[in-house]
Amino acid sequence: MSDTLTIVVPCYNEQEVLPETVKELGNILQYLIDNSMVSGQSKILFVNDGSKDKTWNLISEYTSKYSYVAGVKFSRNYGHQNALLAGMSLAVKYSDMIITIDADLQDDVNAIPEMVKKYHEGYDVIYGVRNSRETDTFFKRRTALAFYSLMKNLGVNLIPDSADYRLLSKRATKALLSFKERNLFLRGMVPLVGYKSAKVYYARKERFAGKSKYPLSKMLHFALDGITSFSIAPIHLILYLGILTVIISIICMIYTLVEKITGHIVTGWASLMLSIWFLGGVQLISISIIGEYIGKIFSEVKHRPRFNIDVETYTNKMDKSD
Ligand code: UDP
Ligand code: MG
Repeated sequence: MSDTLTIVVPCYNEQEVLPETVKELGNILQYLIDNSMVSGQSKILFVNDGSKDKTWNLISEYTSKYSYVAGVKFSRNYGHQNALLAGMSLAVKYSDMIITIDADLQDDVNAIPEMVKKYHEGYDVIYGVRNSRETDTFFKRRTALAFYSLMKNLGVNLIPDSADYRLLSKRATKALLSFKERNLFLRGMVPLVGYKSAKVYYARKERFAGKSKYPLSKMLHFALDGITSFSIAPIHLILYLGILTVIISIICMIYTLVEKITGHIVTGWASLMLSIWFLGGVQLISISIIGEYIGKIFSEVKHRPRFNIDVETYTNKMDKSD
């Protein structure tokens, strides 16, 4: 008896690709079951994220036709990240491992057996990492690169070139679900879970059919969410700006005094110059102090778990001594 796998697939207006997706994922699942890599109870779970087309009709059709397909339908569009989280929170009860993958077949399904193999080797988190971005536009490639380096500078640990294609063990999923925050940026949260992780490389393909559901505006919003949910570095930036302004004000003060003594100035200029720079600096520093407190509130209200245990022998020992 092998471990049970659930493949979670978020779908938003994906009627063009779904017939192919269910076929390809079905084949892979069958292959895994035949080779005793996963149990016969393993499933594909489609999460319909408020699609306006025939996506849900197709999903219902597949659920009645194939025993290994299940579906869940949102009341409206809640977004990709919420769809993933919903799928995982349903699947975690019945699965030992969960793979999340987009519906559009851009991520190579042939990486799945390798992920499962790594799971059996004892890894809890297995990232799908694309080894080429040739199919992405030049613009998307550049912006993605800039984003990863910005996040790194802000102190956020992301796995470059990995999206939401990954395998999580049951305990890693549970740990991820214990993050109570509302602004989801899963690819930033998964590395925080810890545990032993591995990477599986694959070539990212073109979308099989249909259009991207991430237009530029949604992408920018997502990137901004990533920055503001994980970093209070922008607040520190205000502090540095304030300090810089105060330093400039000191230089200004010396310059103004020299000018005043040598008598080159109009009445009132010295005091104006000094107050503008000095007050500006003081105000920026004050804002950053208030910001520090807001930053603290921000991390408190997220209620992130304070620790996540990997191995412990204490409970066992206590049980035995009963
Ligand atoms: N998706 C979703 N809800 C949304 C937008 C997208 O569930 O509001 C799903 C979509 O169906 C797909 C995945 O998220 O399975 C990734 O979207 P897409 O392929 O359009 O993004 P891209 O690959 O262009 O970044
Ligand atoms: Mg896609």
